[in-house]
Amino acid sequence: MDADDEEILARLDEKSAELRARLGELTAPVDADSVIGFGKRIGDGTTQAIQQMGDASMAQNASHLLDQVEKARAKVAAGTWGTCDVCGEPIGEGRLEARPWSLTCIRHAR
Ligand SMILES: [Zn+2]
Repeated sequence: MDADDEEILARLDEKSAELRARLGELTAPVDADSVIGFGKRIGDGTTQAIQQMGDASMAQNASHLLDQVEKARAKVAAGTWGTCDVCGEPIGEGRLEARPWSLTCIRHAR
């Protein structure tokens, strides 16, 4: 493993830690008192429900991204990091710089 790999892994670890922290916050149990309380208007509960739905979809995104970061780590170990999972072509440098967890080239992104 060379110095570049070390640097890539460090960036992936950093992202992974950030995502795990965010997931922890998003999936933390909601304080029941903040959902149902005396003297609150009915609308408050609705707002809370929508907020929670938003959190759930953010948690889903974070968990998806975390999965991608883990796969990118495996690619570093396998020596295939930086190549597209679909076509095997090198992933653009700018793309890798911005998102080292990219698994596909820009053409095969989604
Ligand atoms: Zn591709």
